[in-house]
Amino acid sequence: MIITKQKDFFKILEYLKGRNNIYLFGCDSCAEQCETGGDKEVKAMAYLLKNEGKKITGFSIPAETCYSMLVKKYFREDKDMIENADAFLVLACGAGVKAVADAVGDGKPVFPALDSLYLANVTRYGHFFEGCSLCGDCVLGETGGICPHTQCPKGLLNGPCGGMVNGKCEVNMENDCAWIVIYRRLKAQGRLGILKRIAPPKDYSNSVKPRTVVVESRMKNK
Ligand code: SF4
Ligand code: SF4
Repeated sequence: MIITKQKDFFKILEYLKGRNNIYLFGCDSCAEQCETGGDKEVKAMAYLLKNEGKKITGFSIPAETCYSMLVKKYFREDKDMIENADAFLVLACGAGVKAVADAVGDGKPVFPALDSLYLANVTRYGHFFEGCSLCGDCVLGETGGICPHTQCPKGLLNGPCGGMVNGKCEVNMENDCAWIVIYRRLKAQGRLGILKRIAPPKDYSNSVKPRTVVVESRMKNK
C-alpha cells in the first residue's frame, strides 16, 4: 500500500490560481485507507475549494486511480463534466496523478493534492509501517524477512553500526535496531551461519527508473 499525506492547502490553491473550474479525482484504494483521498476527503476538498470561489465540475473516485485503463473509463463516462474543467486535482499517489495526467493529455494541467511517501505494510487498520523500499534486489531470504535496506536508517547490509544501544537504533531510540531483530530471528530459526557471509553490494541495475514489466500470460489472454 502507498502512504500519502495531503499537501498544504495553500500550495494547492497556488497550483489552482487562475483556474476556476476544477474536476477532482480521489482513489478508493490506498488513499482511502490513509484518509487522504476517499469519498470523505474528496468532498471535504470540494467544500474548501468552493469556499475559495472555485467551481467543482465533478469528481470521481476510481477503485484504483493508478490503473490507467480504469481512469480512462471515468473520462468516457464523465465526459461533459471533464470537458468543462480547466484543471484537475488528484487526491491519490503519484501513480494516480500520472494516470489522470495521461488521460487528460497535453491540453489541461493536472495537479497533485497529496505527497506520496512510501510503500507500507498495514499492521492494523490505520497503522502503517515501511518494510520495503522496492530496491529490486531483495535480501529478505538472508535476513529473516526483515529488510536492512529499509528498517535500518543507514541501510547497512552486514550487521549493526556502532551506535546501537541495548538493542535500540541510535537514529530513533524508539525503534529496535534492525540487525538485532534480524539476529534474533535467524537464531530462532537456527540460521545464524548466514551472518558469517559478507553480503555483496546491492545490484542497483534492477532499480534503474522508469521500470516496466509486462506479464506475458496476461497479454495472451487479452
Ligand atoms: S531488500 Fe529490497 S526488495 Fe527486499 S524488502 Fe528490502 S527494499 Fe524491498
Ligand atoms: S542502530 Fe541498527 S538500525 Fe540503527 S542505524 Fe545502526 S545498524 Fe541501523
